[in-house]
Amino acid sequence: MAENFIQNIIDKDLENQVYGNRVHTRFPPEPNGYLHIGHAKSICLNFTTAQKYGGKCNLRFDDTNPVKEDTEYVESIEEDVRWLGFEWDDLFYASSYFDKMYECAVKLIEKGKAYVCDLSAEEIKAHRGTLKEPGKESPFRDRTPEENMALFEEMKAGKYRDGEKVLRAKIDMASPNINMRDPVIYRIAHASHHNTGDKWCIYPMYDFAHPIEDAIEGITHSICTLEFEDHRPLYDWVLAELEWENPPKQIEFARLNLTNTVMSKRYLKSFVDDGVVEGWDDPRMPTVAGLRRRGYTPEAIRDFCERIGVAKANSMVEISLLEHCIREDLKAKVESRMVVMDPLKVVITNYPEDQTEEMTIENNRENESLGERSVPFSRELYVERDDFMEVPEKKYFRLFPGNEVRFKGAYFLTCQEAIKDDAGNVTELRCTYDPETRSGSGFEGRKVKGTIHWVDAKTAQKITVRTYSYLMVEDENGENVMNPHSVSVKEAWAEPSVAGAKAGERFQFFRHGYYIADERLTTDSEKVFNQIVDLKSSWKK
Ligand code: ATP
Ligand code: MG
Repeated sequence: MAENFIQNIIDKDLENQVYGNRVHTRFPPEPNGYLHIGHAKSICLNFTTAQKYGGKCNLRFDDTNPVKEDTEYVESIEEDVRWLGFEWDDLFYASSYFDKMYECAVKLIEKGKAYVCDLSAEEIKAHRGTLKEPGKESPFRDRTPEENMALFEEMKAGKYRDGEKVLRAKIDMASPNINMRDPVIYRIAHASHHNTGDKWCIYPMYDFAHPIEDAIEGITHSICTLEFEDHRPLYDWVLAELEWENPPKQIEFARLNLTNTVMSKRYLKSFVDDGVVEGWDDPRMPTVAGLRRRGYTPEAIRDFCERIGVAKANSMVEISLLEHCIREDLKAKVESRMVVMDPLKVVITNYPEDQTEEMTIENNRENESLGERSVPFSRELYVERDDFMEVPEKKYFRLFPGNEVRFKGAYFLTCQEAIKDDAGNVTELRCTYDPETRSGSGFEGRKVKGTIHWVDAKTAQKITVRTYSYLMVEDENGENVMNPHSVSVKEAWAEPSVAGAKAGERFQFFRHGYYIADERLTTDSEKVFNQIVDLKSSWKK
């Protein structure tokens, strides 16, 4: 059963045996930055499509542009694809096809289908025409194949400066599709390439290189984003003129756009270069590395990509859906802990001075198999400051003078009195507890409406908690702008077991959200947590 329009196309091709029984896709990143969540969509799509048909999927570094590429990016991309849960059948570098691409260019020249043009980039642009008006032919368009071949050889030999000459496909300056108006297919760039070094000073353009890369690898279905739809005639033209048998087929789908998110390597790189973020893996970044450090799981990201599906029309996806997916994934997987972010001291006046009880608390209410832990409880505790109100609002069921609440996993406590400093700030709550109400004792005498969390003052562990909001927010014109307050770092107090957290370990901090011990900043003695996501979903189905 086809699940989307791409699979419909593949089903038809299989039926007609266009590529025999083969299905072969590829994920072709340019190694000029780290992968982001949009790339994850493309990765999931290419790899799962191949899996579904028992086909193959390549990882191909589309490294035809020498200037912006780097091996750091190559390594991060491999790591990210694997982390997402996929393994490529073959790994290729487009740059290893430079010889073949050069031969292809020569073939076009010999056929009279390509020519060397001396116009500058600005002149070519000016000649290109508009959607309403045809372009103007280059005065160099009628050079003979011999002349073109000699000039192209000289370009390759390094005789010309960058931009002095280009090789153009000879198609149709009056085509209604501007991409077909004699596009540039080779340019001069005197730059060292991360893979081929200084061997080349001419480099193929994307629209010429990509179909050749696909064809060389025997790709059947070349899946790309919608902005390449208008380039498809050129993709087909290149392979037709090269007389490639069974050429691959380009299929376009809508790229992922997410609210509150910049999804362009160029911008993300500028955040890194300008020091706006800590690096490509800053937990606020929509990069795969950033999401990983933030605490996202591969399962949640794959689930998200499946839920958004593939469409033929661009749209905007709510980031709350991504957040929903990580909550769903962690809900029954991680253990819960009690952490107080903004402490207010509680003294239980009728509790013995030197006594400590070990309270047994379940680690995950939805998953018994995660077991229980013991948490110390004694006369002095901390609770959240906003779990107390001197004058309660309507429907406020937590601590206020005279009210009884359940302390999670422990006892019912009644707030008797708030102690204040000279400035009138509440510094301490005096409470009493009812020994009959111990959790797990089967006490059924009365119910209380509020349950709050707490930590034992004597044994509480100091941790650092980093809470994030979106890196981008909408201004009054609906434009994405940088959020000046996208991270807040605070100290918090945790129950003792949190002191043993390992880097990368995830928890639910009861009533606060899901957290991960930061993989860079967590040490044996210092625990730094990133908030992955809070508990409240704003996502509506
Ligand atoms: P960016 O514009 O962020 O630099 P890109 O398209 O230039 O992205 P590539 O490395 O060329 O980045 O992309 C590799 C693959 O990922 C391409 O097939 C591209 O179509 C796909 N891709 C990139 N961004 C998205 C997105 N937002 N949604 C879905 N697929 C994407
Ligand atoms: Mg690109």
